[in-house]
Amino acid sequence: MNLEKIVRSHLLRLKPYSSARDDFKGSAEIWLDANENPFENGLNRYPDPHQKVLKRKISLLKLVQEEQILLCNGSDECIDLLIRLCCAPEHDEIIICPPTYGLYEVSANIQNVRVREVPLKSDFSLDTLGLTTVFSERSKLLFICSPNNPTGNTFQVDAIEYLLVNFPGLVVVDEAYIDFSDKKSWLSRLSEYDNLVVLQTFSKAWGMAGARVGMCFANPQIIELLKKIKPPYNISSMAQAAVEQALDKADLLEINIASIVSLKNRLFKYLSGHPMVLKVYASDANFLLFQCAHPDIMYKDMVESGIVVRNRSSQTHCDGCLRISIGTEIEMDKVIGWFEALRD
Ligand SMILES: *Cc1c(COP(=O)(O)O)cnc(C)c1O
Repeated sequence: MNLEKIVRSHLLRLKPYSSARDDFKGSAEIWLDANENPFENGLNRYPDPHQKVLKRKISLLKLVQEEQILLCNGSDECIDLLIRLCCAPEHDEIIICPPTYGLYEVSANIQNVRVREVPLKSDFSLDTLGLTTVFSERSKLLFICSPNNPTGNTFQVDAIEYLLVNFPGLVVVDEAYIDFSDKKSWLSRLSEYDNLVVLQTFSKAWGMAGARVGMCFANPQIIELLKKIKPPYNISSMAQAAVEQALDKADLLEINIASIVSLKNRLFKYLSGHPMVLKVYASDANFLLFQCAHPDIMYKDMVESGIVVRNRSSQTHCDGCLRISIGTEIEMDKVIGWFEALRD
């Protein structure tokens, strides 16, 4: 991989902002270098811009080097940084495979970066040949969400391997839902592919969407460049502390995931046998996509009963589809109760 062809040239040369914490790294008694307020209240000091403690814990959990990790204000910030790192406005493009997570397109649109769509096939698999035919030297990022939102499926390993070998830019595998899945993460393949970028998040399985902490894993050269362009203090002290605590109680994670997965399987079975549901798609994530005859009416009726789901019926290959997140057992009982009442 030649990063000079992928990264915008002025960013290769960029001299990054150097924070007070970068200029002086030792220990001291009196800190008067950052114009902070000296009166202690727990938050009067700037957070660690490099999130060292947090990265150490993550590197042990994920079995990657700290130099392969970038932490962001949600993985949404990682998406934005990747686009700004690689794509020149009005010149370069990203490639997405709809139906998929909507933010890739919006983040590119904000930068006036072109979005090329190569839809999934109707069975929700990757159109690898279709993708290959649109690759050009302007194609900088290929976003693959696996397990995919909103379809819930995980893409074939050999399809993604083929794309990693043939795509001229960075292949970004967004694994926001990987913890719910029994499929293997692409993290273990990082050292094999220089152009592989893996995104994960604390927002879904870890239950910390409010903290806004996302993870980007890639080879250290890419991470170094992303670090140059990230806002210096992009993760607050509160968010860093909250995630550090969650990582210390990682056993809770497995219990949580097991409960969500078992409620998902139960809802899958139930919906599959319901006369008003035409199809339920298998899901490796914490949501189900299902098809019904009159999605707009069903959506509206559910909202009127106080149950809000996501109407995805206008997305490619998603005619009639609603997406429902898996909630608590009580919430799922209410959902099933609502569907039971439809039978009458
Ligand atoms: C929810 C979601 C995210 C958002 O992650 P944050 O870390 O909360 O910003 C990213 N990608 C996909 C596919 C998602 O569904």
